[in-house]
Amino acid sequence: MPSHVVIGGGITGLAACWYLAKAGHRPLLIEKEKRLGGVIRTDEVEGCLVEGGPDSFLASKPAAMELIRELGLEADVIGSNDHQRVTFIVKNGRLVPMPDGLAMMVPTQIMPMLKSPLFSWGTKVRMGLEYFRRPVENPPERSVAQLVREHYGQEAVDYLAEPLLAGVYGGDPEEMSADAVLAMFVAMEKKYGSLTKGTLAMRAQRTSTGPLFRTLKGGMEQLTQTITCQLAGKMDRCQDEAVAIRKSTFGFEVQLKRERIYAENVFVCCPATAAGGLLRPMDDRLGELLSGIRYNSSVTLALGYAEADVEGKIKGFGFLVPKVERKRLAACTFVKTKFDHRVPPAKALLRCFLGGAAIDVPEEELIRDVLAELRDLLGLTVTPMFTRLTRWRGAMAQYGLGHKQRVAEIRERTQLHPGLYLAGNAYEGIGIPDCIRGAKDAVARPAG
Ligand SMILES: Cc1cc2nc3c(=O)[nH]c(=O)nc-3n(C[C@H](O)[C@H](O)[C@H](O)COP(=O)(O)OP(=O)(O)OC[C@H]3O[C@@H](n4cnc5c(N)ncnc54)[C@H](O)[C@@H]3O)c2cc1C
Repeated sequence: MPSHVVIGGGITGLAACWYLAKAGHRPLLIEKEKRLGGVIRTDEVEGCLVEGGPDSFLASKPAAMELIRELGLEADVIGSNDHQRVTFIVKNGRLVPMPDGLAMMVPTQIMPMLKSPLFSWGTKVRMGLEYFRRPVENPPERSVAQLVREHYGQEAVDYLAEPLLAGVYGGDPEEMSADAVLAMFVAMEKKYGSLTKGTLAMRAQRTSTGPLFRTLKGGMEQLTQTITCQLAGKMDRCQDEAVAIRKSTFGFEVQLKRERIYAENVFVCCPATAAGGLLRPMDDRLGELLSGIRYNSSVTLALGYAEADVEGKIKGFGFLVPKVERKRLAACTFVKTKFDHRVPPAKALLRCFLGGAAIDVPEEELIRDVLAELRDLLGLTVTPMFTRLTRWRGAMAQYGLGHKQRVAEIRERTQLHPGLYLAGNAYEGIGIPDCIRGAKDAVARPAG
């Protein structure tokens, strides 16, 4: 009987296996797919490294770099080419550069804001006056849109918050909880009143500099593949789908599609929707809480070109399309500008993000729509040398209103089942560093 079973072989489950092995255990990893890595997927297409899922991780959150160091991969880490970092926002069908000095949706410099055609004068004045807001002691829970609107107005929701967060969560700012998604800004509001003032104060204290995003020379899959290779002989693997978890005399009975196994400790590292179904037979309320976390789908489309064909048409890191302007495209990254080691000389790669609504649309239709939009926005009329479409059904957890309380109750109920642990992108952060930290914390947590 394995003492430690991990369900789900994405980055969360693999990190859990890594930390369990480090603690001297031999975990059994249950993953329904043949491939490990979950949504982390890098393919080589015509010499280009194509990321089907995440392309990088935030440098400011340490858990990913800590794991990378333990794996001996530090020399392969590369940063985003921030000296070339300009991101454009589509406004009235045209690309407008995001003004300098923006930290997420918080303006911190006056002149670039005043000069930017992205906002009306009304919004600019409002942004300036925001600096004088007084601290709020106990603000009620608000949506991301409500918070940003209160501080900077609707235009900042439409042309900053929505497109920026759509890329991370694939969700609607009117529905996302500010407490869960923008916790740092909510804390600043309590202390400083103004988000601009809070951001400037935080910057003054910051010691670390360097690129905003990091990745690996071999793509993000280099991370999951290295973990898998280094765990060879230290973990067992079972390709099967978990369908139910129940209490047993030995700890837990994990019902798989093809067999039944018993374990003292179970780490549930699959999406909360799947976790909810698994845990309902054992704890109906826990199952209900987990199943209530919504997930959105996401589709990425990589387009490879001859560099000469796109010359002069693309610059900066890419562009975001606000929902008020959106047809198919939500965002597009110019990969060669953002990262080295991705695209060979004489080629160019565009990575397009399409919202969840594209999940069931036929491939030809999506490609046709995207090419038409690129023609209008960039003047790009040539046919790409290759296309690569990746669909992620129900992969992006949505932190709706009440998310923090829901997660607190999930954590409380999990305590009732010593030996049961939950980790993944549904709880305290959706990014790769958050998932790794969640797995590490779960392994460190004493049973019961
Ligand atoms: C398109 C896209 C782009 C992203 N970009 C970034 C980015 O640039 N930077 C960043 O930090 N984050 C990004 N994210 C978010 C981040 O990549 C994910 O939140 C994170 O990788 C999720 O890892 P996970 O292991 O928790 O879940 P997953 O990767 O979803 O893995 C879960 C695994 O569980 C398995 N599973 C599910 N149910 C069962 C079952 N019943 N039995 C057995 N196995 C099961 C699945 O097959 C899957 O392999 C992106 C996400 C997407 C979809």
